[in-house]
Amino acid sequence: MTTEAHAAGVRWDLSPLFGSADDARAALATSLERATSFEQTWRGAMPDMTGPRLSEALLELGEIDNLLSRVHSYASLRKAVDVTDEENRDLSAAVEQGVVQVLNALRFFELEWLALEDERAAELAAAPEVAADRHYLESLRRFRPHTLSEPEERVLSERDPAAVSAWQTLFGQTTSTIEVPFDGGEGEEPHTVDRLLAYVHDPRREVRRGALETLYAALGPHTPVLAQCYDSLVGDRLVLDRLRSYETPITLTHLRNELEASVVDAMLDAVEANYPIAQRWFRAKADVLGLDKLELHDQYAPVGNARDIGYDEARSIVTTAFDGFAPRVRQVADDLFAEHRIDAEPRAGKRGGAFCSPVAGDADPYIMMNFTDHMNDVLTMAHELGHGMHFQLAHAQQTPHSAHTGLALAEVPSTFAEFVTYDHLLAGETDAGTRLALVAARAEGAFATVFRQTVMVRYEQRAYEMRALPTTLTPDRLSAVWLEENRRYYGDSLALIDGYELGWSYIPHFINTRFYTYAYVFAKLVALVLYARYRENSDAFVPGYLDLLSAGGSADPATLLGRCGVDITDPSVWSIAFAELDRMVEAAEGEI
Ligand SMILES: [Zn+2]
Repeated sequence: MTTEAHAAGVRWDLSPLFGSADDARAALATSLERATSFEQTWRGAMPDMTGPRLSEALLELGEIDNLLSRVHSYASLRKAVDVTDEENRDLSAAVEQGVVQVLNALRFFELEWLALEDERAAELAAAPEVAADRHYLESLRRFRPHTLSEPEERVLSERDPAAVSAWQTLFGQTTSTIEVPFDGGEGEEPHTVDRLLAYVHDPRREVRRGALETLYAALGPHTPVLAQCYDSLVGDRLVLDRLRSYETPITLTHLRNELEASVVDAMLDAVEANYPIAQRWFRAKADVLGLDKLELHDQYAPVGNARDIGYDEARSIVTTAFDGFAPRVRQVADDLFAEHRIDAEPRAGKRGGAFCSPVAGDADPYIMMNFTDHMNDVLTMAHELGHGMHFQLAHAQQTPHSAHTGLALAEVPSTFAEFVTYDHLLAGETDAGTRLALVAARAEGAFATVFRQTVMVRYEQRAYEMRALPTTLTPDRLSAVWLEENRRYYGDSLALIDGYELGWSYIPHFINTRFYTYAYVFAKLVALVLYARYRENSDAFVPGYLDLLSAGGSADPATLLGRCGVDITDPSVWSIAFAELDRMVEAAEGEI
């Protein structure tokens, strides 16, 4: 099969999921009926629960989960490729509403499980009948010591709209409605924050610089409101942490990620100690660009000149790279292509970006992307296929409750698949401009995750410390901390520009999910460690890695990684990741 430029005609076939929107609606009604009947059967049953009965309940819950996930995914996938279609929007609205109803009907089960005394819960979780769901059952209970009484919880959730959501909405409205005139080369036009930020990849230096200066000038007048939103939210979170007995402001995030504080602390310290790796590259990059020193707006300036790659060539590159890794992995990718589970053609009404949907425990994953023949798209394809192989292998071995990992491990297989593809691409590429672009993109992509996200975590930690004193989080105080943490990263290898002190002000993670970013640091570093192991001894590595994928979320990250020889509780493990990153920077320097 040949396809024209930009993946023309590469659309997915959703018919294996449902034949029509009506079929999906019927399945939604069925899942609601089953959830209602589940509630009738099992409400109040927990005190007299036995192993076999718990297994029976979990099986039924899993089947409802599969059915509901299939309906939800089908509606989301349809909408993702045509948001303007009325039927898609109606179906999606109906499904969103149905999902809430089903989850409300089932919520009692988790609450009753949490209400059990520790000893009784441990005894039930140890029953052989529920062995496959043991981790799921045990991990649910990690929030028990931090859960308040039912009336207290109700009061807290009832005041959420005013105490939490209102600040988040005000922040979102403020940043999303900022629009300022800017000339990106085609005459002056109104620009949003996101559109201005996109110019950091522009080849023209004056455009990159102008876009950032325009951005900071536009943010300036809004910073009192943006800082107030943050101050209120951080103040509220600190109060709730005290009521719920969380030791530190970051403890809740560690619990969600199932990571020990000591592991994350050692990791972040190691990242900071390795800031010089990025600084070395920034100096080398200044040479490539013919500058004495990089300025902030040069950080992501393109270097090299990657050739275009059509969809068919991309498919062949990625599947061949995977084949070199493990034929089992190639098979998963081949099936995704052959069974039309990839939608790659950009078109009107389709949403931007890329994602891989696991769909459901008893279904196969689907991938959406917008393929435009750029080298980047090849890596995006590899990334999403990496998620796809994780879902496929985990679904084959795990129950619906144990198949999915938390954020910290979820990005490991996708990042790893990118590394495999980079090396394969480099091995076969003779065009010098393409090679330089590839090695630079690989190193800079790692910096953006590992180093930049760590700077953000450090900034957040200091903001919480200030607020706890208590000190009001004013724009000036936040700017001072932001600059200090950024200067530690860039050192004297890159000059920050006037206005950058406001860089904290528009970042939504600080407002919506605290300490969200370190899970990405973790995933990238773990993928680097795994990749180093793979390069050392591929034969010994591959079986363990496939087991890791098949294990899904059936244990916590430390246990799963320990099984493939990576001990994240040993602080020296991170040096393996930085040696690998160092090698990637050396490769980039070698192409200059
Ligand atoms: Zn991803």
